[in-house]
Amino acid sequence: MHFVQRKVRVDLANFDRFVAGTWGANYIQRRDLYKGKLLAKIGYAAAAWFLHDPTKTELEGGIRWGLTKVATHMLEQLQREILKSLTRARAFTPSIAMENEFHVLPILLKLHQLAMNHRCRQYGSADYKLLDEALEIKDPYRGCTQDRKEMAMHPYAHLRALAGLHVRTIREEEQHSLSEPAFAESWADPKKRGEWIKKFNFRVVFHHANIAYKLYLNLRMLSRQPMHPTHKADFGDHILQYYVGLKPAQTTMGIGLRTGNLPLKSNWQWCQMNGITDNRCPLCEKAVHTAEHLLCHCTALETERGFLRSAVGRLDWHSLVTKDLEITTAWAIAFFGIDQFKWCLDDKDFQFPRGRRVHISFRN
Ligand SMILES: [Zn+2]
Repeated sequence: MHFVQRKVRVDLANFDRFVAGTWGANYIQRRDLYKGKLLAKIGYAAAAWFLHDPTKTELEGGIRWGLTKVATHMLEQLQREILKSLTRARAFTPSIAMENEFHVLPILLKLHQLAMNHRCRQYGSADYKLLDEALEIKDPYRGCTQDRKEMAMHPYAHLRALAGLHVRTIREEEQHSLSEPAFAESWADPKKRGEWIKKFNFRVVFHHANIAYKLYLNLRMLSRQPMHPTHKADFGDHILQYYVGLKPAQTTMGIGLRTGNLPLKSNWQWCQMNGITDNRCPLCEKAVHTAEHLLCHCTALETERGFLRSAVGRLDWHSLVTKDLEITTAWAIAFFGIDQFKWCLDDKDFQFPRGRRVHISFRN
């Protein structure tokens, strides 16, 4: 585990040469780096070492004696480091919000998916039969019911049983739509069987990621934390489309706007770090210093707001942070007065008046 962590950190340090908050690779290229380089390294041979079932707790009959809590926490922290580095979200942005904005699955569920794909493909193979025999041989008290029960709780036995359950469910589901000979032919084809397995395992982990996301939103609401635009999107919504065509500075501003984590006086964590006690807008001093206030209501920015209105029509907060994110982020970089972006203010993309450069058809 430490070895993977070290290798990923070396990659992240290398990526710093072409991934930054205001320049470098764009959002989609960064996601390709995540999937092609980092996830490939973390998930290598996951079926052999990822002895964990994140879909069930131990009390619900989940795996025992698998990966320790320290190891799973280390994997989650590694995913957090990667997402923070690639999305350039600010400190204290929740990992689950970054995952949704970057359109990736939580790491434990992703590794479970990769490992289960392999286990289901290999189920019934000669290698797996050897493993069955090995588990039997290792049982020193063969015939003793109590110890055989314990052997069934061995992580490999648990995951093997789970793979068996998945394989049986896939067979039942796919058999419905095909005649018996056609199904037998398709099942014998490793490519077709692999496709069915991948589709099914993705559906399983997506379902559990969705439940975890809904739980996160409910806890946020119950604890009366602000619901930012990212919390209004459903899990799995293709939020990536809002970031298409944006420059790196715009994606940094975009993730800040959508997760509500920008250096503005309404951000109590930023205020605490900077010793700011007053949350009023420094421009008009009439309302709380939020992104929505600056974009839609601040009287001190009335003239500048005219540029935004002429580009998008009626100002609507939801549209500004979804389908109009390209022009909204450009306007915010030009007029929010955030220090991080002062080096790119001369860029022609942040000069107003200008029109929309990206058009996204609205999707609920
Ligand atoms: Zn104001």
